[in-house]
Amino acid sequence: MPFNLKTKLSEVKGIGAAKQKILKKLGIQTIEDLIYYFPRTFENRGNILSISQLKKIGKGCIKSHVKLIHQRRSYKKRIFLTEAIVSDGKDSLKVIWFNQPFLKRALENKQVYLSGQINSDPSYGIALINPVWEIVKKTPPIHTQGLVPIYPLTEGISQKQIRSLIWLTLSKIPSLKDWLPEEIKKQYGLIDLKKALSQIHFPKNVKELEQAKQRLKFDELFLLALSNKIIKKKIKEKSAPIIKFQEQITKNFVQSLKFNLTSSQKRESWKILKEMEKGKPMNRLIIGDVGSGKTIVALIAALNCLANGYQVVYMAPTEILAQQFFDRAKQYLKKVTKKNICLLSKNNYLFNNKKIKTKRTLVNYIKQGKADLIVGTHSLISQKNPLTFKNLGLIIIDEQHRFGVEQRAKLVTKEKKNFLPHFLSLSATPIPRTLALTLYGDIDISYISELPAGRKAVITKAFKEDEKEKAFELIAQRLKNKELVFIVCPLINPSSKLEIRSVKEEYENIKKRFSKYKVAILHGKVKSEEKIKTIENFKRGKINILVTTSLIEVGIDIPKATTMLVENAERFGLAQLYQLRGRIGRNKKQAYCFLFYKNVGNAEQRIQAFLKAKTGIEIAEKDLLLRGPGELFGYAQSGKSVKFKLIDFKETELIEQTRKIANLFLKKHQDIKKFPLLWNKIKEYLK
Ligand code: ADP
Ligand code: MG
Repeated sequence: MPFNLKTKLSEVKGIGAAKQKILKKLGIQTIEDLIYYFPRTFENRGNILSISQLKKIGKGCIKSHVKLIHQRRSYKKRIFLTEAIVSDGKDSLKVIWFNQPFLKRALENKQVYLSGQINSDPSYGIALINPVWEIVKKTPPIHTQGLVPIYPLTEGISQKQIRSLIWLTLSKIPSLKDWLPEEIKKQYGLIDLKKALSQIHFPKNVKELEQAKQRLKFDELFLLALSNKIIKKKIKEKSAPIIKFQEQITKNFVQSLKFNLTSSQKRESWKILKEMEKGKPMNRLIIGDVGSGKTIVALIAALNCLANGYQVVYMAPTEILAQQFFDRAKQYLKKVTKKNICLLSKNNYLFNNKKIKTKRTLVNYIKQGKADLIVGTHSLISQKNPLTFKNLGLIIIDEQHRFGVEQRAKLVTKEKKNFLPHFLSLSATPIPRTLALTLYGDIDISYISELPAGRKAVITKAFKEDEKEKAFELIAQRLKNKELVFIVCPLINPSSKLEIRSVKEEYENIKKRFSKYKVAILHGKVKSEEKIKTIENFKRGKINILVTTSLIEVGIDIPKATTMLVENAERFGLAQLYQLRGRIGRNKKQAYCFLFYKNVGNAEQRIQAFLKAKTGIEIAEKDLLLRGPGELFGYAQSGKSVKFKLIDFKETELIEQTRKIANLFLKKHQDIKKFPLLWNKIKEYLK
């Protein structure tokens, strides 16, 4: 039966339902999935040896004839022994397999390749033990000789089975049209797609493997870069509200602040304001260290949109953050504008200072344009109740790495077809520049590169579990000074299995240890209103110690909090610790961060790296080395990551180079529809 890449395995003869189910577990459902299921490593089983060579070397592969084969139960009972004598014409060799009773029928009188190790044992003499075998056919052996691919597997399927399946598929697939234009292949010395796919599984040598990897890595990056560029171009073809720079009101706003803007804040705000004047959709990401003051930049953009008569949406990943932004927006903006600010959060609807009973009322205000700045969480894009706006001018998404890429699309697609609101996202995830350019190639990036003046670096100390008392002494001093303390635990509830601190246990401990002070608890399971009240009381200093989870990792701004203690710091990624620590040191007072950790795995190494690193970027790079990019960039959730199978994000040079190649290509060929195969591939990729 003819098949192509998109053919489902269920339509292929010879793959039963049970196998399909197992393959599905590995994410393999189509022919394409199967041939793009790459080996995790290779085993070099060497060239074919003669039996006498094998006896000398002790390990390797032979081609031989099975002369005698029989089976018996071993003296230890239970175990099935299959014993054979094989010959290569010159010498013969004894071969033993354990517990594979079907072998007699399979191998009797056959020509076979055998790969394994010679063992010498008093009970059966010199013999090849449990070798991998395969019957000699016209095609070269795939299991026993040379570089043999080893796949990441699950129960119910063997290396041999998947290998054979992939081999068969590769040899049967009638044609595999290469979508990569000839000129690119020629210019950059890349091999053909079909060849690359076959060589990535069954390379004759290391060079072939390298060629294959080079080609397929190129594919991953090239497609990403091209599609990013194409998205970018498409966006720029649409129109957007013209936001005239409102000089007076902007000045008033900046003057009303208690501080001077940093030069990064000024530079990037200006860039944004200029961009929004052009009537083309802005699509911009602000990357800035925690505490660098991204919110102000967003507020300046928002203010200008409001002053031009447009609505603005601000979306945060948590209710606490949405509330915080709402409060700040009111505090800052009310001094300079009369626009209405509303909060649409879970069971919490506010219109300026007024509580609104039903969501419907607020939704109507938004529709009628009575609500100007709309602040909220995911609920803004909830499927059940799609918001409609009167005239949406700008969407701001805070901590954007917390959202999937598709989510922002959801807000956007609700707008008119050829008209898009401006789009601004904020992230404290410090991504090295080259990487950001590639991963977010469809977006323009603003870097806020400095912290406000006068901030002191947080003094960070690591303690082993038994040095706790020392840290508690230090905390007692901070409390005496009327400073606020965060205590962060990885879990909410106690767990007997894991020896990890939970918020609930720690809350009891801390209450006892610091009985003079007010201690409160906060985690994801606490009710929304309760959460917001607790944060509010903590902010005001009515609570001295807040025992919490990494819930507070993102964005919370509580200037009076100077101290943080992290329990089981080994459980957190470096980038996450960095975010956590970013909650303190937000004013001129000296801040302290204490890490308690257990020395498991590479914890020591990671904690030390954390103590040494000075900037977010440094931490990002360390995390990249120690943990890989997935978690670091929150990229896994975004769905894009599945497309990277080979790319190692440490290969910045390759990443950079491919991006440039893609740019050149697009410059040269304005209309890539001239390359129908490539165009199809990109369309598929963008889906
Ligand atoms: P982040 O970039 O992490 O979102 P925020 O916008 O929450 O940071 O700002 C952190 C704190 O710094 C806030 O309390 C804010 O008022 C303050 N801040 C922002 N810009 C400045 C500045 N230029 N000088 C002094 N403080 C600033
Ligand atoms: Mg923030």
